[in-house]
Amino acid sequence: MDDTAYDFDLFTIGIGSGGVRASRVAAAHGARVAAAEEYRVGGTCVIRGCVPKKMLVYGAHFAEDLEDAKQFGWDIEGKSFDWVRLRDIVQRDVTRLEGLYGETLSNHNVTVFEERAEITGDHEITLASGKVITATYILIATGAKPHMPEFEGNEHCITSNEAFHLEEVPKRVLIAGGGYIANEFAGIFNEFGSKVTIANRSDVILRAYDPALRDRLLQISLTKGIEFCFNVEFEYVRKQEDGTLLVKMTNHEERVYDQVMIATGRVPNIDGLGLENVGIELGRKGEIKVDAYSKTNIDYIYAVGDVTDRVQLTPVAIREGQAFADSVFGPDKPYAVDHSCIPSAVFSHPPIASVGMTEGEARNSLGNVRVFQSDFRPMKNVVAGRSERGLYKMIVDAANDKIVGVHMIGPESPEIMQAAAVAVKAGLTKADFDATTAIHPTMAEELVLLR
Ligand code: NDP
Repeated sequence: MDDTAYDFDLFTIGIGSGGVRASRVAAAHGARVAAAEEYRVGGTCVIRGCVPKKMLVYGAHFAEDLEDAKQFGWDIEGKSFDWVRLRDIVQRDVTRLEGLYGETLSNHNVTVFEERAEITGDHEITLASGKVITATYILIATGAKPHMPEFEGNEHCITSNEAFHLEEVPKRVLIAGGGYIANEFAGIFNEFGSKVTIANRSDVILRAYDPALRDRLLQISLTKGIEFCFNVEFEYVRKQEDGTLLVKMTNHEERVYDQVMIATGRVPNIDGLGLENVGIELGRKGEIKVDAYSKTNIDYIYAVGDVTDRVQLTPVAIREGQAFADSVFGPDKPYAVDHSCIPSAVFSHPPIASVGMTEGEARNSLGNVRVFQSDFRPMKNVVAGRSERGLYKMIVDAANDKIVGVHMIGPESPEIMQAAAVAVKAGLTKADFDATTAIHPTMAEELVLLR
């Protein structure tokens, strides 16, 4: 069949990080592109993830900054915090960004349908309004949604989706899970004055991170007043007459909270997409299976981002969207995204940042490794009388001096890591870092002073 027999060259389902990039780039390559979004243009990252979360993290940090200010000579009388003001300003900015994403697409002549889309046949999509559209290629970029474990009363719990819209900061909040979202929101709520409890099914937080960093975050979080319950499962959450929540976890007495937030991972968003109508293969967790070029088992259907459950990070979805669009619609040879050595950060209080192998991973795969560590108290914390210490760790392959991992916890560590990650990705050696003059006084200089 002649390609122009279809209404569009590409139809993208889901206009989040991956979908926007793929649609825009495909259109720039000359493709006729349409895209559908059932919720809000921008996806999780912009609407109810990374972006508004980071704004709340900034807001939360003022609690400590204002406390520390005294040691720097500032007297701040009558400070108070207005959650509703911050919430609404954040939401206003989210709406602004949503508009910008929409503009980008319309500037590239991408036709946007703000409604649900389902694959109903070969090369065929049906919109919620009943309109039927055909396309040469289909890209699924529908992301992921919060996983909600089964237990009595889970309907009374919120997820990160709702956390951005609360009417008030909960006095007592229980967060289920010990991963990114749990630790980030624990920090946020704690700084805003909530009594925070994290409850995880295992006895670790942030399983994938280097244990030294995890331990440091745990210790600092405990010092800040965050409580941890490990090895627990939820038995029930019951709403009481006064609106509070009665929670029973295994090995614990009943407890009362104002909010219970579930942050136990995110699952691929595949419901109602009509994948069965064309026989798309799924993996064990319901993720869409794709090859290195993001192609599904159906020749003309591709998938990028969280719905494929490769690496659930926005910049990865963006790269996958770009590579798909360049490969399918661009003039050059198809290329695959390199999923190795991806830096990441947890915007906890303090934040964690990491790239490459943990010490354990490096020992297992390389055998002989050298580990360099700096355990220091940032100057600002010294002046502020804050005991919190930073920890930087560098893992080096003893065979060739190459740095195979850098792990940091401390103020601004994600900002510092971005540059360090270039060096690790480029395969630089410990000697290269040693040969670099420090910028003094900074926290980042610790990276070139590790001995
Ligand atoms: P994570 O995968 O980070 O953590 C999930 C947590 O929930 C773990 O502590 C895990 O326990 C626990 N868990 C997993 N499955 C179950 C289950 N069935 N029942 C009970 N507990 C369970 O998930 P998040 O929800 O925090 O975040 C989702 C994803 O979003 C992240 O993986 C990350 O990719 C992305 N994200 C990234 C951010 C960033 O880049 N800063 C910020 C927020 C999210 P255990 O591991 O101990 O067994």
